[in-house]
Amino acid sequence: MRTFEFKRPENAASAVAAAAQAKTAQQGADIRFLAGGTTLVDLMKLEVETPERLLDINRLPFDKIEELPDGGLKIGATVRNSDLAHHPKVQRDYAVLSQALLSGASAQLRNLATTAGNLLQRTRCMYFRDTAMPCNKREPGSGCSAITGSNRALAVLGTSEHCIATNPSDMCVAMAALEATIHVQGAKGSRAIAFGDFHLLPGKTPERETVLEPGDLVTHITLPPPKPGSKQVYLKLRDRASYEFALASAAVVVTMSGGNVSQARVALGGVGTKPWRSPEAEAALTGKPATEANFRKAAEAAMRKAKPQSENGFKIELAKRCLVHALQTAAKA
Ligand SMILES: Cc1cc2nc3c(=O)[nH]c(=O)nc-3n(C[C@H](O)[C@H](O)[C@H](O)COP(=O)(O)OP(=O)(O)OC[C@H]3O[C@@H](n4cnc5c(N)ncnc54)[C@H](O)[C@@H]3O)c2cc1C
Ligand code: SF4
Repeated sequence: MRTFEFKRPENAASAVAAAAQAKTAQQGADIRFLAGGTTLVDLMKLEVETPERLLDINRLPFDKIEELPDGGLKIGATVRNSDLAHHPKVQRDYAVLSQALLSGASAQLRNLATTAGNLLQRTRCMYFRDTAMPCNKREPGSGCSAITGSNRALAVLGTSEHCIATNPSDMCVAMAALEATIHVQGAKGSRAIAFGDFHLLPGKTPERETVLEPGDLVTHITLPPPKPGSKQVYLKLRDRASYEFALASAAVVVTMSGGNVSQARVALGGVGTKPWRSPEAEAALTGKPATEANFRKAAEAAMRKAKPQSENGFKIELAKRCLVHALQTAAKA
């Protein structure tokens, strides 16, 4: 049985200094932050993650949700998913985020899972979680079992010949549509990262999933002020009604003027190798009448570059219908 050292850093600076000694912050990291543990501990039991040191960040002061002077929101890294989903301002001004969070996992898991942990959760690709099977993400250069194997749940957007794993997060899809910003404290100081720049496409290096470097501690996420009068919907389609990951999902934030869409923010889940913002769908919607035909055109635009694998071609039509339905629901709200 593997052993590891367990530490509770006294403050963020000592957590960052300790984690900065790691060889990588990506797959194979020898030092990991521990938040709710609902991803990390699972993967440690499977020996997919084998850190030598765990830094428990649960006592660091990152558990607050605060309104910002500009009307936006600051969400601490260790805020629990359930607390965030039920926060009155989130329910009122960022309903798409509340809906996305409540569609994920189970009540018990949401009580433990944190904002930063959700942001950094790992793919559910079965081969990634099975150390007996080749997987480029877990063991670079070993091959991708999913491309010729079971890939029904995997991605159709942003894939490469090296990895087709889906990003499984619901929260991240809403955060992408809300244009969130991720704040990181690292060995070289603090920095802010636009949500769309945080996760990486697999390309030739699927083991590298984010822009995080050793020592980087996510401290909080900010949301811009809500768009006045915006209508927001998160729709998740899956094999069963609860406790299941998305086959396809859509987060939409639309502002209407008369019968026209004046502004649209669209992101898709369950179909991309990262939380999938769709500028193509947004461009197709902006300035157009809010009709089913135009929603369908936006959905076609969103999925134009989709590449099916042997078992997941159905996701392309599913994602289109998901987006159309989400837009119809938002337009009627
Ligand atoms: C059975 C099951 C069903 C699920 N269903 C869904 C679902 O339907 N939808 C969905 O979206 N999710 C689902 N999840 C995933 C769940 O949302 C995540 O496991 C959870 O959000 C992870 O948060 P955590 O705090 O437990 O993270 P941890 O497991 O503690 O950490 C995850 C990763 O993030 C890193 N990390 C954590 N905090 C920081 C930080 N502040 N800075 C830098 N790195 C950090 C850790 O080092 C680790 O690598 C499910 C999970 C399970 C077990
Ligand atoms: S899809 Fe990615 S995670 Fe799954 S087996 Fe292939 S390389 Fe591994």
